[in-house]
Amino acid sequence: MPTTIYRGRFAPSPTGPLHFGSLIAAVGSFLQAKSQGGEWLLRMEDLDTPRNVPGAADDILRTLESFGFEWHGEVVYQSQRDDSYAAALRKLAESGATFLCACSRREIADSSVTGIDGPIYPGTCRNGIIAGKAARAIRIRTQPGATEFVDCVQSHICQDVAGEVGDFVLRRADGVVAYQLAVVVDDAAQGITEIVRGADLLASTPRQIFLQRLLAYAQPSYAHLPVATNAAGEKLSKQTLATAVDAKIAGPWLWRTLQFLGQSPPAELRQASQEPLWAWALAHWSIGKVPRKTAISATKAEYDLP
Ligand code: GLU
Repeated sequence: MPTTIYRGRFAPSPTGPLHFGSLIAAVGSFLQAKSQGGEWLLRMEDLDTPRNVPGAADDILRTLESFGFEWHGEVVYQSQRDDSYAAALRKLAESGATFLCACSRREIADSSVTGIDGPIYPGTCRNGIIAGKAARAIRIRTQPGATEFVDCVQSHICQDVAGEVGDFVLRRADGVVAYQLAVVVDDAAQGITEIVRGADLLASTPRQIFLQRLLAYAQPSYAHLPVATNAAGEKLSKQTLATAVDAKIAGPWLWRTLQFLGQSPPAELRQASQEPLWAWALAHWSIGKVPRKTAISATKAEYDLP
């Protein structure tokens, strides 16, 4: 039997340049993969065309390269994987796990209660679309019951997907395949064994495990890192105008990232260049030192941003 090699990944959305928030996920997933003697893969999550920024994917790749990241194989672009998503949708439809939905956002909002990620679908089209209405989206038929997993950083997570999220969308009304489906299909296709990413996606993981089970995919391990927040408590992102990281000062950015991730890099490396920082990080990375928090303010002096 071949032994399974550790495969990790970083899956940025090309909605803007790499910022401190995304650097944390890149560094954490990279060091975790390297510390396991594994491979680290890259995937551009460029499906949500309205949110994509022209040039952002190349910009992210250039920045990663200048920081000294090395990835295994070719970068996978979700925008080129329509056939795989269509095949997964067909498989789910054939087993009766999906249904077509004709409801508008407005109709759902008017007749639903709010769950952990927006309105819980009221079930209107679950048993068929009302005559005269046209199908807009494809939804998954969730089943009541707990979906549980043990996260390497955030410990035991338990969610009733049906009760807390509801029948979520797999293909949107605009034809775009939803993140929840694409990520599951791609992680399986790339043979990812552990997913290290920001804790903003912790609440999505039970949905992804639910889909993995229906599609008979292996379940990867998970490690959700704390996300960096600004003074207002908002996640650093393009929307909150997070500063782009500057590869000319990659060393100091790496130091801050390692500090944020609880690794306590030596103070004398604070202004060092990227090579000694990577050498130190590769020798000392410990996921057990990552704070068991879902969010940490990035405004404290030790990771004060320029
Ligand atoms: N594309 C997502 C993001 O940039 C990450 C998805 C994932 O790691 O599963 O937030």
